[in-house]
Amino acid sequence: MTMSQRNPSQNEEHFAIINGTVVLPDGLLANGMVEFVGSRIVAVGQEEQRDRSVRIIDAKGGYISPGFVDIHVHGGAGSDFMDGTAEAVRIACEAHARHGTTTIFPTTTTGSFPHIMTMISACEAVGREFAGSCGPTLAGIHLYGPYFAEDKVGCHPKDGCRPPNSSEYEKYFATNLIRVATCAAELPGAGEFYNLARRHQCLVTCGHSNSSWNEMQLAFDAGMRHVDHFWCAMSSVPSMRQRFNVPMQGSMAEFVLMNSEMSTEVIADGCHLAPELLEFAYRMKGATRLCLVTDCNRALDMPPGEYLFGNAEEGTMFRSDGKVGWAPNGSLASSIVGMDHMVRHMRQNTSASLPDVIRMASLTPAERTEISHETGSLEVGKRADIVLLDSALKVVQTIAAGKFLA
Ligand SMILES: [Zn+2]
Ligand SMILES: [Zn+2]
Repeated sequence: MTMSQRNPSQNEEHFAIINGTVVLPDGLLANGMVEFVGSRIVAVGQEEQRDRSVRIIDAKGGYISPGFVDIHVHGGAGSDFMDGTAEAVRIACEAHARHGTTTIFPTTTTGSFPHIMTMISACEAVGREFAGSCGPTLAGIHLYGPYFAEDKVGCHPKDGCRPPNSSEYEKYFATNLIRVATCAAELPGAGEFYNLARRHQCLVTCGHSNSSWNEMQLAFDAGMRHVDHFWCAMSSVPSMRQRFNVPMQGSMAEFVLMNSEMSTEVIADGCHLAPELLEFAYRMKGATRLCLVTDCNRALDMPPGEYLFGNAEEGTMFRSDGKVGWAPNGSLASSIVGMDHMVRHMRQNTSASLPDVIRMASLTPAERTEISHETGSLEVGKRADIVLLDSALKVVQTIAAGKFLA
């Protein structure tokens, strides 16, 4: 089902990473060791005497962490996935791998049907290419745009936003590559969209939406379990009051906070949300229901300046100031940093322990997308998706499916 099935007979060299603290979902293991053969983890435990045939990798006293899983990411290093070329997909994925991401869900934006189909095909081709060579795993597409509410479209190209149309989205799902599917719950036809997304084993999500509690309940009944970037481009009690007047009604925020089956995500770049909101989201939802995402655009690792959000022809202009993207109307236009930045920021600005912070960037998104049997934590039998971090949580080396990325 994944876009890249790896051949286990290739690259059977046996490696042992030693001299580091292993980050497990429930704690830290000092003087730990992770061994892998080919693309699979074969041992996780305390450091011990090695026989000479094993190749040693010295973590130099840093952290041995699971590779990061990003379920919401638009591009990087000058490329947006919506550019729709294999070259653009390759460049963006490799840029995020340098920031510790080993499993990536390229994310669509509002755009025309041909542009979205072209993006999906390009991602499929690069997923296959990386599986045979070296690169992060493309675990599926996040069908994010085009089904946004017009009043919550944010920085995305407004012309491309529309209500869900089954003759269109059936073609996306027929590729069997969509693994995360977003739609604003108040749009006509949202329920049918959610039903089909669920039949395709997607994480079903509501985003760029001004939906009410009742609309969220209907969406939940149809399989919706996640809300994109909490507090950004979503409804609130004041926005419900504007829509329905009194009595004031519950919004997406209350629905997510009160319902333990709902998960969400935060953009922890330090520009979108103040520390108290990150702390609040972490305390209210906990590490098993809160994902860190980058929501990163093409300005990652690029100089400050003007860039296009979305496709290179259809996209909308934004400005990067070197810290975050800004739309011309003065609102934020998504992040420009990688997952390692989110991990450091969350660790420094909230009470979340390092295992919890790493969980939110790896195991939790893997669980929510139903790939945690394959990746998301350092466990025997899982894919050797590993990131070596120094004591300041900077990426030293990314290992994706047992291959060392530059
Ligand atoms: Zn968004
Ligand atoms: Zn986004």
